[in-house]
Amino acid sequence: MFRKWHLFTPGPVPVAPEVLLAGARPTPHHRLPEFSAVLTEIREDLKKLFQTERPVFFFASSGTGAMEAAVANLFSPGERVLVVCGGKFGERWGEIAEAYGLFPLYLHVPWGEAVSPETVERALAQDPEIKAVLLQAHETSTGVKHPVKEIAQVAHRAGALVVVDAISALGVYPLPMDAWELDVVVAGSQKSLALPPGLSFLALSERAWERVETSRSPRYYFDLRREWKAYQKETTAYTPAVSLLLSLRESLRLVRELGLPRLFAHYALVSRACREGVSALGLEIFPQVPCEALTVVKLPEGLDGGALTKLLRRRYGVVMAGGQGKLKGKVVRITHMGYQSPLEVVLALSALELGLSELGWPVKMGAGVARALEIIRDKAEEVYA
Ligand SMILES: *Cc1c(COP(=O)(O)O)cnc(C)c1O
Repeated sequence: MFRKWHLFTPGPVPVAPEVLLAGARPTPHHRLPEFSAVLTEIREDLKKLFQTERPVFFFASSGTGAMEAAVANLFSPGERVLVVCGGKFGERWGEIAEAYGLFPLYLHVPWGEAVSPETVERALAQDPEIKAVLLQAHETSTGVKHPVKEIAQVAHRAGALVVVDAISALGVYPLPMDAWELDVVVAGSQKSLALPPGLSFLALSERAWERVETSRSPRYYFDLRREWKAYQKETTAYTPAVSLLLSLRESLRLVRELGLPRLFAHYALVSRACREGVSALGLEIFPQVPCEALTVVKLPEGLDGGALTKLLRRRYGVVMAGGQGKLKGKVVRITHMGYQSPLEVVLALSALELGLSELGWPVKMGAGVARALEIIRDKAEEVYA
């Protein structure tokens, strides 16, 4: 009975019961007019979520599939792209670009630091052949948020596109695609969209779309020209992930009812409560510019992060993520995304306090929780009215 799982991992995230139940209904046929109506509703809501007038495409794949679709549709073998690389997912952009025969130029950023627009500008000025800047809205491996809006401006001045992986960012904090003139925005289902894994999303600006017609990269399932033809006929090129789309419709409906500003305010509040709670425990936040989707906590020297996450999982059913790559064992990542009430951040902090204490680290139990509660109390009326 006491085995209740609490997911604080950066994907998958907890999913609302009504969203899960929507996907549990008998599968409708995807070529019937009733399903076209579902698709149309989803597509309109997705545009609102992306804050764009452009069509938003989806695929039956994890988020990486839409990253691959972006590369395959926009570029040709031999072309050069600038990859902002300050963590695991930056590396992934580079690997996909290499797989498609592009020449990725890496702009290495120390893990935990945000890239500066000036550095991007300099790199672009050195090589006028660069076609695009590929980056993450935030690096989920380090929790660092990049200045996407400013980088888009710098890229456009240099005649390059800006391609943003917002897989764990879209719907968490403002990333208005049209207003910031983002050329490509990629999203995934099991992170900020609070759905089970299996759907990825992709939207392209008009400027980016021009490249789709001329790209010489091989593509079949991810060919956006085919998807666009089907889109205009209110259908999809291939069998879509029907059950997940029914869940998506429900989750987008919940977002529509709440409104993006309230959602953003919630994430801003809980992430701040978490950060301040962590600081009150005498621990440091790893990223210099933290995002609102997850809190990445630097563990004290000598404390084994793997032992901490294992203890919390086994003893209390609390699942937090450890570090990836060179951060393995050194950080713990607490996610705020998904179906979580404002007070779940308090549960996460209490688990952290308990775990640290049990591992013998001198932590004043309750200090982090108390600070987080103060932060929530002072803003609750404004955010959750
Ligand atoms: C999780 C994540 C990915 C990969 O998504 P998958 O759904 O696992 O393929 C890519 N980029 C970022 C920023 C992520 O957080």
